[in-house]
Order: sequence, then structure tokens, then C-alpha cells
Amino acid sequence: MIALFVALSLSGTDLTIVKNRRLEQNATVAKTLFAAGLDEPTVDAVQGALKANGFDFKKARPSDQLRFVFRNGQLDQLDYRRSIFSEWQVRRDGDRYVGKKGELERETQLAVVELTVESSVWEAAKAAGEKPEIAVTLSDVFAWDIDFYRDVQKGDRMRAVIEKVVSKGRVLEYGNVLAASYVGSTVGAKKSFRYRMPDGSESYYLEDGTSARKTFLKTPLKFAAVVTSGFGTRLHPILNYVGSHNGVDYGTPLGTPVWAVADGTVTRAGWDKGGGNMVCVRHVYSLETCYLHLSKVEVKEGQRVAQKTVIGASGSTGLSTGPHLHFAMKKAGSFVNPLTQTFPRADPLPKPLLADFQEKTGPLGAQLEAKSVAEVAR
Ligand SMILES: [Zn+2]
Repeated sequence: MIALFVALSLSGTDLTIVKNRRLEQNATVAKTLFAAGLDEPTVDAVQGALKANGFDFKKARPSDQLRFVFRNGQLDQLDYRRSIFSEWQVRRDGDRYVGKKGELERETQLAVVELTVESSVWEAAKAAGEKPEIAVTLSDVFAWDIDFYRDVQKGDRMRAVIEKVVSKGRVLEYGNVLAASYVGSTVGAKKSFRYRMPDGSESYYLEDGTSARKTFLKTPLKFAAVVTSGFGTRLHPILNYVGSHNGVDYGTPLGTPVWAVADGTVTRAGWDKGGGNMVCVRHVYSLETCYLHLSKVEVKEGQRVAQKTVIGASGSTGLSTGPHLHFAMKKAGSFVNPLTQTFPRADPLPKPLLADFQEKTGPLGAQLEAKSVAEVAR
């Protein structure tokens, strides 16, 4: 009698249960669906509905979020969120499940951003109300001239005209930097403009049409959020050229991304008794660079790499007393000091394009010069 009473009382209202789950390490989507209490026909139907809407099961990651809505013990709706950009919804429609891919309304806006360094670039970004990622984006524009780990000083100022991908008033990510300036006590004044060539390719040029690019980058360390230190931490690699061991030591947190300073071919990628995990790349001008003590190697011997390809992560493998990157450069087989080498810039803009370049970048240059609101208020 009691059991019957309970069943009757529930029949009048819908019993809704919501379950939130994350995809666990090494768990498949199917396994997660089963674990949430779905039976096999429902799992099949839900997966079919996801697949029909472009869901790629191979891209399922442990951070994916699932929200199940059960009505009277039956799955009514599943929201599957992979990232802010990709969401799927599966709804029950009678005996079937129908899926759709969520479309996030997003637009690209152009913004002028100004950062003044007090303690670090991360802090400067935060103080300006920006996401710290903007520092990575800006460091990339100046990678041939500024080492964002070492050259940034208190009081340095950056200004950029940058695309922001915005949704509902929130910045999702940064797009291209159209123009940027850097004024710093060690690096001086730098200005770069993004320009689209007639063939559609885009590249950075200085005000007079000189290429911003060089055959070699300023540093083998890509500026990034480092796992062990995270955002907000000031990274301050110790730098030392030691002639006796033929290279430069960058004291760096474990896991700092290491990139190829120039285009080339990987001549070595593997274990060395002294160097630990070691990568060497052969470049133009009979130059070769080597990156030692890595915690992770991401390239293979014989592989062609482009400048800025991340070839591994810094570590402390081999004969090493602590996390650091040993960076060596050889010219025609003999070690040279990478810090004293100078490299030419890439080809300048062809003369016939100069007028167009100046016409298009002129207004951007004015934005870089414009006084900040704070300055005007003073
Ligand atoms: Zn060393």
C-alpha cells in the first residue's frame, strides 16, 4: 500500500534530477554516459545524435563537462560542453534523441590596449583589465627583437591595436595584433605593423617598410604561462655565457616552452649523456643550434621545423644541477656565442607596396601615438 501511494504521488508532478559530470581521465564518452545511469539504447541514441552534429569523439578530453537532465527517470536533455566555443545539446523528442550544436554569438572588435610594467607583464595585463594571454600575443610580435623574459623592465610601456573576440561583453580570446609599440629602458623604442601582401600572406613590418622578422629569434624560450609558476609570477631567467662549456644557460622554470630560433632541419633529437634530452637544428649560414637538458622533446630527427616551432620544454635532464636551458650555437662546426651574433632582417616590403603600406598603417600609427586617457586627465 505504501509503495503504491508513493508512486501515485509522483505521477502528478515531474521528478527532475540534474547530474553534472566531467569526463574522467581515460574515460570514453560512452563510459561516462553509462556511469550517469543511461541504458545501452539511450547511450547509442545520444551518441548518434552527437555524431550527427559534428561531434568528434576522438577530441573528448577530461575537462569536458556534461549536464544531464532526467525527467521521471528518463534522460530528457544532455548538454555537452567542450569549450566556450563548442557545446552540444541532445534533447528527447518522443522516442528519439535529437542533437544540435550550440553556436556562440561572437564578434571581433578592434581595441587599443596600453600596458605599463610595474612588476611583470602579467601584472601589467591584469592592471589594464586584460587577460594575461595578451602578453603572449604581444611577445610574439616582438620575438625577433625583445626577449620577454629578460628584457622587460619596470616602467616599460606597450601599446597595441589588437583584435578582441568578444561574446556578451566578455573577451574570449585575442586575434591579430594590427600594430604595436614598445618603449623600454633596455630595448628602446620598437614599432611593428601587420600588413597583408597582395598574395594574402600577412607579416610584420617596421614603420619604414623594413621587415620585423629576422632569420633568428632573440631567444630560444617562448614566452608563455609556465606550468610550474603560472600566471602572475615574474619569470627571471639567469643568463650566463660560459665559454668553457660552450653555450648560454637560461635559468628557467621547468616546462618552459623552447622554440626553434630559426627555420631548419632537426639533426638530433634524443638522449645525450651530458646534455640529457637534447635537440639540435641545422639552419642557413652553416649555423646549428642545440637545446639541452629538456624535460620533453617534441620533434624527430630529420624533421623540418619552422622558426617558432616548439621543439620541447625546458628541464633538468643529463648533467644538470637544476632546471635550465643550455643553448648552444655552432658556426661551420665551431661554437660561437649566440648572444653576440647579429642577424639580418627578412626582405623589406617591395617598393611598389610602400605607399599602400603607409596609407593603411598610418591611422594605426596614430593610435599608437595617441595619449592615454590617464595622461589626458593629468
Ligand atoms: Zn650550460
